Amino acid sequence: MNLISDFHIHSKYSGGTSNKISIQSISRNSNIKGIHLLGTGDCLHYKWLEELKKTLTTYSPGIFYYEKIPNVKFLLQTEIELIWKHNLELKKVHFVLLFPDYSILDQVHDFLSKYGNLDEDGRPKIYLDPEACFSNLKEISQIIEIIPAHILTPYFGILGSKSNFESMKEALGSSFRYINVIESGLSADPFMIRQLSELNNISIISNSDAHSTNFHRIGREATLINIKNITYTNVISAIKKTNKIRTFEFKPQAGKYFFNGHNKKKHLNRLHYCCSPTCIESRCPYCNETLTKGVLSRIYELRDQFFDYRENYQYILPLLELICKINGGTVYDKNNIQDYIELLSKNRGEYNIWNKRSNIDGCSPNLIKSINLIKNNKFFFTPGYDGVYGQLKFIRDNSFESKTSCAVI
Ligand SMILES: [Zn+2]
Ligand SMILES: [Zn+2]
Repeated sequence: MNLISDFHIHSKYSGGTSNKISIQSISRNSNIKGIHLLGTGDCLHYKWLEELKKTLTTYSPGIFYYEKIPNVKFLLQTEIELIWKHNLELKKVHFVLLFPDYSILDQVHDFLSKYGNLDEDGRPKIYLDPEACFSNLKEISQIIEIIPAHILTPYFGILGSKSNFESMKEALGSSFRYINVIESGLSADPFMIRQLSELNNISIISNSDAHSTNFHRIGREATLINIKNITYTNVISAIKKTNKIRTFEFKPQAGKYFFNGHNKKKHLNRLHYCCSPTCIESRCPYCNETLTKGVLSRIYELRDQFFDYRENYQYILPLLELICKINGGTVYDKNNIQDYIELLSKNRGEYNIWNKRSNIDGCSPNLIKSINLIKNNKFFFTPGYDGVYGQLKFIRDNSFESKTSCAVI
């Protein structure tokens, strides 16, 4: 069976998240949107773990569900921040961890609690280097999966500009051998990542990293896997199959860290500044500080092969945001949400609407036209930078078609 999956979300106990997140709200909204399998988020946090144990029922080994909404399944997942010194520089990198069961999770909790306060934040800070951390995790259980998160984003991405590693091998040393899967993050797509030869045998998954259960956040990027029976081990072996999984991706330009730039919040004149990696100037013309280096710059610096990789992924954007662009108003307006839910119920979920072969039913001609422009790749984003999302633009004139191809070319 085909499962739309989102392996990286957060609970209300991580910093900057909505306090309305519950297993019930995740299950309800995922069911409407058409997501079949999710990480629980924050499973090392005692309060969230208590909620998971209370609310979830076991479906199969390592897979759980909320009884009132059995279509949506969960597996135990958290994100951690590893903090360590590398050549005298302090490094802070995020990793997603997936666990096969509660007893292994308990053992991991006992181990990690020696190196950080797991009760403080849903995404705990662990003061340990990757080799020491991952070899111990693998000793507890070989089938714990360790996934470098949003690998190219400037903050906390292992290959991001603030981490400043030359390669994943440099960052991880011998513990690189434990990595089978990486997460692309919103500002990078598989085309960009496939320019890095050290990741040739590593599969790429896409997740939302959602901080709320709103429809434009949860499952905004996702991974499609195909397995016979939903068990933890089947899911893990599916995501390791480099050529078998398919991902739903933001256009990298849409993400918050594509170009180099400075957010207007940094400036007294309240003006933004952004530029492409081809711009030689690395300092901001307004404040003279170093610009936040985006994902595209990092790819330019790190790429060591040209790989024309255009398979196994598809660009999407949050359908609710598209509805707002047509109707006006915001993603929080009741009438927009109502239109969205109605549209999904008529079309068997959001991902089905993005399927090239599907015909869309039950919405305004204007919206159908816009959805088809997206499906036919007739759109682009003004690039995001320094925490500012990119802005959607449609291409109605065929002569601009070349703009839709990836900016790396
Ligand atoms: Zn993160
Ligand atoms: Zn500046």
